[in-house]
Amino acid sequence: MVVASSFEEAVSLIKDRLDIVDTISQYVVLKKSGANYWGICPFHNDKHPSMSVSPSKGIYKCFSCGAGGDALNFLIKIQNREFKEVVMELAEKYGIELPKKFTPSDENKTQRESMLKACKKAAQFYNLQLKTAKDSNKAMTYLKSREITAEIIDSFSLGWAPNHYDSLYNELKKEFKDEILEKAGLILKSNKGGWIDRFRNRIIIPIQNENGDYTAFGARAVDEGQNPKYLNSSDSLIYNKSKTLFGLYTAKDAIKENDSVIIMEGYFDVITAQSHGVRNAVASCGTALTPEHVKMLSRYTKSRKIYLSFDTDTAGITATKRGSEVIKETLATLGDVKQFDESHISGASDNKYACEIRVVSPPQGKDPDEFIRTMGGEAFNEHVKSAPLLIDFLLNNVLRERINAKTPQEKAALVSKVIEILKDVNNKVIQTEYVKMIASVMEVNENAILRELKQRENTYFGGHLPQIQKNSVTNSSQFEIKAQKNLLSVFISDGGYRNYANLNMLLPENIIHDETLIIVKNTIDKLISTVNNVRELIKNLYTEFIEDDNLTKILTDLVDMSEAFSELSSEELEQAVRENIYRLNRCYTEHEAEQLRQHYRQVNDDDMEALKVQMQLRDRIKLRTGDK
Ligand SMILES: [Zn+2]
Repeated sequence: MVVASSFEEAVSLIKDRLDIVDTISQYVVLKKSGANYWGICPFHNDKHPSMSVSPSKGIYKCFSCGAGGDALNFLIKIQNREFKEVVMELAEKYGIELPKKFTPSDENKTQRESMLKACKKAAQFYNLQLKTAKDSNKAMTYLKSREITAEIIDSFSLGWAPNHYDSLYNELKKEFKDEILEKAGLILKSNKGGWIDRFRNRIIIPIQNENGDYTAFGARAVDEGQNPKYLNSSDSLIYNKSKTLFGLYTAKDAIKENDSVIIMEGYFDVITAQSHGVRNAVASCGTALTPEHVKMLSRYTKSRKIYLSFDTDTAGITATKRGSEVIKETLATLGDVKQFDESHISGASDNKYACEIRVVSPPQGKDPDEFIRTMGGEAFNEHVKSAPLLIDFLLNNVLRERINAKTPQEKAALVSKVIEILKDVNNKVIQTEYVKMIASVMEVNENAILRELKQRENTYFGGHLPQIQKNSVTNSSQFEIKAQKNLLSVFISDGGYRNYANLNMLLPENIIHDETLIIVKNTIDKLISTVNNVRELIKNLYTEFIEDDNLTKILTDLVDMSEAFSELSSEELEQAVRENIYRLNRCYTEHEAEQLRQHYRQVNDDDMEALKVQMQLRDRIKLRTGDK
C-alpha cells in the first residue's frame, strides 16, 4: 500500500500507473503506425481512424472532433463519471491510500451511515405495520385494487405509515439521535416543540439508490381528499431526487442484459412492470426527467436505447416530448456510444451522438400499469418490441388530426406541425421519405411540403447567413489564437521547460490575449516550480484542467504542437519565441489598424473625431513600416 500525502499526489501516482495505450485499448482497437497508434474515435460518429494515441507524450487526440487529453481524462470521458469517483476507484485498484481529508470526513461518514441505517429501519418498520397495524386495512384494500400481491409487497418492501403522530419516532428514537432522524427526513418538529412522524396515514414506497440502500420514501394518500396524493422525501445528505431513479437497483442487470431501459411515470407503473417480467423499467421520483438521470442510464445501456412509456393522455404526451428533449440534449454531450441512424436524434451533426428513443404506447389508451395488469407482462414486452421511433409516434399524433383538416387553411396548419417534427431529421433521404409518405396520407403536394421545410430550416437552423458573418469576423482572431498557442507550446516543450525563466523574460506584458490561453499560461506559471520535468508539468496541467473539457482540448493541442520545438537548442528556442512575439505583435497592430480604419469610415470629415482617428492610423502605419 502506497500512502499519498495529498490528493494531487494520489492522482499523480495513479497517472504514473496508467498506460495510455493499455487504457484506450480497452475501449478502442488501436493499430500502430510509426511512433503513434491510431483508432476509431469513440467520441464522435467516426468511420475512419482519426484518433491518434502517442505513447511518448501520453496523450490521445482526435483530428476530427478535437477530443483529446491524457489517459485519466479518457477514462472519465468514456465512462462518463465524476473525476473523484474514478480516482477513488483507481486508487483502490493500484493500492494507493488516499489522504484522510479527501475521503469523506468521519463525522460526515458516520452521519451518512446512521441516516442510511435509520432509513432501512424505517422501511422495515413500515413494512411490518402494513401487516400488523390496526388501521392498515385501507392500505391493503388499495393495494389489492392494483393487484399488488403479498409477494410484491415484500419484494418492494411496501409499507404503511399508521395514522398516529409518532409511531415511527417512538420506535426509532431508541436507536437514533433526533438530529439523524430529522436529517433523513423521517420526522418533523411539531408546533409544540416535540417531534412527529413526517409520513402518516399513507402507503409507503421505499426508494433505493443505485447500491440498494434505502435513502428516501414516496408516500401515497389513501383517503379521499387527502392531499397531496404523493408526499415525497426532500433531498438530503443521502438522497438527491434528480440523481435517483426508482427501481434502478432492481432493474440494472436487466437493463444491461437487454441493452435498453423503459422509463415510466410512477412508482406503481414500475412495481407492476418489474413484478410482471418487464424487468428493465424505472421511473423518476416525483420529478421530471433530468440530465443526471439520463447520464446514469447511459452507464447501463451502451447503445442508449431508451423507451418512454408514459400515460397516453395529453399530459403523458407532453411528458414524452419533454423527456425525449432532455434525453437528446444530454446524450449529445456524451461520448462512448454505439451508433444508430443519426436521424433518431435531433440536431445530430458530425460531432453529436446518436441514440434511439422509442415510445411504448399500448393501444386503447391504457396506462402501462393498467395494460400490464390486464394483458400481462409478455404482451407488454411484445409491444416494446414493435414500439415506434419517437419521430413516428409524434407524426402519428399529428396525422390523427387530419380527418378534421378539410380546408386548405386547416391542412396548412397541420403541415406546419409536421414540419416542426421533420426539421430535426438530418438525413435528407429519410426526411424526403417521410415527406412523401405524409404528402400521400394528407393529400397535399409533396413539393409544397419540401419547400416549406426548406424555408423553416433556413430561417431557424441552417442559419447560413449569420454563420458566415460570424466566421469572417473571427477569422483574423483565429490566426491570432493560433499564434498565441504556438508561443505557449514552446513553454511546454522539453527545452522550453528547462529554460523557462529566461524565455519567460522575453514575453512582453499582455502578449497572450485570449482569455482561455491566459488561464493556461497562468497555470503553467503556477506549476512550474513544483515539478521536476516537462512530463510532470504536462501531467499536472491535465489534472488541473480535468473538469474542463475545453482547457483539456487546448492543452492537448499545445502538447501536440510542442513537438516541433523538441530538438531545438536554447538559442534556437529563444529565437522561436522572439519570432512568435514579433508575428503576434504584427497581428495585433494590423487588427488595431483595421479597427481604426473601420472607425474612420464611420465618422464625418468635419468631425474633430475624424482628425484624431486619422492621426492614430498614420502612427500605426508608421510603426509597422518602421518595424521592418
Ligand atoms: Zn473524435
